[in-house]
Amino acid sequence: MFKIVAKDKESKARVGVIRNAHGGVAETPSYVIVGTRASVRTMTPEDLATVGTQMMIANTYHLWRMLGDTLSSFEGLHTRMKTDNILMTDSGGFQVFSLGFAREHGVSKVGVASAHRERPRIFRDALLQVRSFLGISHKRNSVRITPWGTYFKDENYGDKHLVFLSPEKSIKIQEKLGADIILAFDECTSPKHGYWYNKWAMNRTHKWAKQCIAAKTSSQALYGIVQGGNFEDLRKESARVIGAMPFDGFAIGGSFGEEEMKNVLDWCIPLLPEEKPRHLLGIGRIKDILEGVARGIDTFDCVIPSREGRHGSIWTHKGRYDVTGARHIGSNLPLEEGCRCPACARGVTRGALHDAFKAKDMNAGREGTFHNIYFFNTFMAEIRTAIKEGRFTEFRKKMEEQLLHHGA
Ligand SMILES: [Zn+2]
Repeated sequence: MFKIVAKDKESKARVGVIRNAHGGVAETPSYVIVGTRASVRTMTPEDLATVGTQMMIANTYHLWRMLGDTLSSFEGLHTRMKTDNILMTDSGGFQVFSLGFAREHGVSKVGVASAHRERPRIFRDALLQVRSFLGISHKRNSVRITPWGTYFKDENYGDKHLVFLSPEKSIKIQEKLGADIILAFDECTSPKHGYWYNKWAMNRTHKWAKQCIAAKTSSQALYGIVQGGNFEDLRKESARVIGAMPFDGFAIGGSFGEEEMKNVLDWCIPLLPEEKPRHLLGIGRIKDILEGVARGIDTFDCVIPSREGRHGSIWTHKGRYDVTGARHIGSNLPLEEGCRCPACARGVTRGALHDAFKAKDMNAGREGTFHNIYFFNTFMAEIRTAIKEGRFTEFRKKMEEQLLHHGA
């Protein structure tokens, strides 16, 4: 399914190819476009193909809750999304965090410095663990984590009672959804969790990983997830334990501050099997992609291209700008000089897009999404060419200087 075709001499960057049974091919490093509920807002399947999309990821938790009883007769993601692309599903493990401690701690996945410099406080961590187990956490925390799986109460789906997701159930749902690559059920911890909480959560994730392998009956590729917070010994232990299990690929999970991500990758990647694909979960800004590729990451998924495009944040080789800002009024500049995305090819200018956003024109978000997805897919293709031509380090340096110069 995955084959490495070129390696960079000065870094761990590599070019690979992922194939699926539908004839879909993705060259890596690749951006995995997020279609949470099996679609990308404002985009048709044809649109996504036009802008060079090779891989997409849908969300197991949301599809499970959305489809309800109709899941048993679900036609499969390739049919639903009308594509032969390489498709992934996450496991629901991220929702253990996003509907749980992320709400309680008021944090998101990225950009929050973690508690790893604090003195380990075993009693505080034990109390959190016990509260979570008993389901008497903070009122905004909608999950209850047990050694057997996780209970969710989610107002979005009118869940008055808790619904239960276990490793076995996550795999069963993902088999029904039918993506090419599925993920093991894990617990993504909060950056505010201390050492001991992370250690216990990591052990749970390892136990669940074994259960996921045992539960799988399909020929889908199953990726294991490395956790361990921002603690060196835990990350290394997790990479060793998960890396030794018979997974088809590996993903790095968790939440980190900006600098911490680089450490986490430096600790984990050398301990994972070289010949298997590596995915970085939920990360996708230009800077992070360059850091990740240099450290040997093959695929990235992030909501940035579509979510930010829909709200007027436009990505370019010089970073990101907000087209809804007043300085773009009347601007005749293209969204990015030389861009060949459908929006730029139609001659959409910054001024015109600004006006469309201000007028709440339905098409504004679509143009932004078109440009951003095209940008990221093209950017990944440029990275692949640079690796193949042995000039990735040079490419990365040039990009980083450019970003710094423009204050991105
Ligand atoms: Zn464009």
